[in-house]
Amino acid sequence: MLETRALTAAYGQFRALFGVDITLAAGETVAIIGANGAGKSTLLRSITGVLRNAPDMVLHRGEPIGALPPEIVMRRGIAMVPEGRKLFPSLSVEENLLIGGQVRRAPGPWSLAAIYDLFPILQAKRLAPGTSLSGGQQQMVAIGRALMSNPEVLLCDEISLGLAPVVIRDIYAALPAIKSTGTAVIVVEQDIARALSVADRVYCMMEGRVTLTAPAQGVTRAEIHQAYFGGA
Ligand code: ATP
Repeated sequence: MLETRALTAAYGQFRALFGVDITLAAGETVAIIGANGAGKSTLLRSITGVLRNAPDMVLHRGEPIGALPPEIVMRRGIAMVPEGRKLFPSLSVEENLLIGGQVRRAPGPWSLAAIYDLFPILQAKRLAPGTSLSGGQQQMVAIGRALMSNPEVLLCDEISLGLAPVVIRDIYAALPAIKSTGTAVIVVEQDIARALSVADRVYCMMEGRVTLTAPAQGVTRAEIHQAYFGGA
């Protein structure tokens, strides 16, 4: 349903991705792990159109989308929860969520009420400015804002970054509910155990390449260690 084929990406002269092939099936949850600088965010930026590439390096439903701008990619049903949350600071929780709904695709499972069911604390804080929330609550708004477009694919970039373990647990607890609506999810994570706990399959990246593709349940620590750090 979503696929990258021999995806390369560069920042000026610096090459960040060297022929990355990943696939995401409808309704599947895939984890992408790897150390700092492995290219995980660059991969997501290449899918969302922030970085543009040869058209057929990214395929959605078999159609080339690698050169499309972000707003068109979003309208196709590929929504991003960006690293750092990036809420609109002067807007309330509810207004931030409603903005996500402005690029709404055809009817789907997500509405304000469904987001408040998923994260009840957001209903209590619905009129508060987004920036008055804790980091974890802001992350919930960022996830809710992306879901409000009723995406077919949800891309999550390091949603646990900088959050306390108890908060990470709450956020990850929402992922099965999101998956149960049929939404496919890519989680980019440095917290490997957390990523494996929700994923069907895992890809590990190192220095711009995929070094491991495995089912999340069967993969061993040794395989991950090898793929993550390289060497013997
Ligand atoms: P992190 O967990 O630190 O976000 P990552 O796996 O997501 O790591 P990327 O952010 O995709 O890695 O970075 C891949 C490589 O591209 C790194 O070497 C990084 O320094 C470089 N890079 C990322 N963004 C830029 C940029 N805007 N300009 C130049 N180089 C960049």
